[in-house]
Amino acid sequence: MSLRFYNSLTNKIEEFKPVKPGEVSIYVCGPTVYNYIHIGNARPVVFYDVVRRYLKFCGYNVKFASNITDIDDKIIKKAAESHKSEKEIATFYEEAYFNDVKRLNSLLPDYIPHATSYIGDMINFIADLIAKGYAYEIDGNVYFRISKIADYGLLSNQAQEALVEGARVEVAEAKENPLDFTLWKKTEEGIKWDSPFGQGRPGWHTECVVMNHKLFGPQIDIHGGGMDLKFPHHENEIAQCEAMYNTHLANYFLHVGRVDLKGVKMSKSLGNYIFVKDFDTPRKIMVLRMILAFSPYRANINYQDDLFKQYETIYDKWQRAYKQAYYLLAANDLLANNLDEKIIADFKGYMDADFNVQNVQTMLDELIKNCNLALRQNDLGRLATLLNTFKVISDTFGLDYYLTPLTEDLKTSYLAWQAARKAKDFAKADSYRQELVAKGIL
Ligand SMILES: [Zn+2]
Repeated sequence: MSLRFYNSLTNKIEEFKPVKPGEVSIYVCGPTVYNYIHIGNARPVVFYDVVRRYLKFCGYNVKFASNITDIDDKIIKKAAESHKSEKEIATFYEEAYFNDVKRLNSLLPDYIPHATSYIGDMINFIADLIAKGYAYEIDGNVYFRISKIADYGLLSNQAQEALVEGARVEVAEAKENPLDFTLWKKTEEGIKWDSPFGQGRPGWHTECVVMNHKLFGPQIDIHGGGMDLKFPHHENEIAQCEAMYNTHLANYFLHVGRVDLKGVKMSKSLGNYIFVKDFDTPRKIMVLRMILAFSPYRANINYQDDLFKQYETIYDKWQRAYKQAYYLLAANDLLANNLDEKIIADFKGYMDADFNVQNVQTMLDELIKNCNLALRQNDLGRLATLLNTFKVISDTFGLDYYLTPLTEDLKTSYLAWQAARKAKDFAKADSYRQELVAKGIL
């Protein structure tokens, strides 16, 4: 069986076939860096990391890009409010973002394009769209002419009339069509660049298309982002790619659901959000990662304290069992590299079925139960295989149990503790035990 998942472009579960055999290109829309990220922003950071790790596990050479939108009205506003430059604001929050990414244990992207590094390319791109008749300029603003794109609305699966009514599209009197979107925005305030259309800055939809194209060429395998990016962002990216390259940008659009807080959509303006930085211990951030990684990816997550507690219990259980088995095997030089092939085949079967992550969670839980069973039965060969199988699957989900490395000294103490227990020298065993507990081994 091979990987199949839901392609938002066709609204079907399809078999994944990369453009180049053995290679996968993924571009995930990254953050606009004007504030700390909340747990909803962290969902793509975790989900696409799991996808990326899984594709690597399957043997693909994965090229992963995620951009930084380092110029935007929100950044300009924040800079003006805090009497700083846009660059200072963007740099500060980008650093905070990658700090969260690393604490979430997501791999850093292979490419991190910054919008401000591609302004010249974006200006050329917009000029080409005008030359081809796909864009027009009015008073220093440039708009995309969507009437030239026959299947506009393909991704959001809506007719143009419905899009006009249903979406909050800016209504500028002068535009030919209310859905025509901004490619170049004339700006008076904040940072701006010179262009043949006057001073201003490029629109967000153009930024991603140009950076994507510069990195990967006109056709990539997977384009990702939150469901909320389907329209207008991804729809408008597709329109520009159709105009310029006659492609839909990506063969597969893979969208991930949002995170609600106690049943209400998270919003910075309403003040109902939780920042990722507030999960301020390794254990808390790993529990958050589990919630984001093991929830069905297309559904919204309703985050609440109970959900956190539920996953906290699971994490503690897995961590305890993993740690106990790991040190026992490591101290006795019994760690293994082999896998339970039947369990691995099941794991692949679940992931290949449109990323059935819930079944993987159940399977990891079973594995921990069986590790405990093998431990009780003192079947250390079986335990070693199960533990390694657990680790390989758990690594694909980017989970970390933060084990202290077993130094030679600690190994000696561990073996001495085991020997004292066996000899029923409880006083001695207890003193070793206390040392091992203090060092985090027991
Ligand atoms: Zn984007």
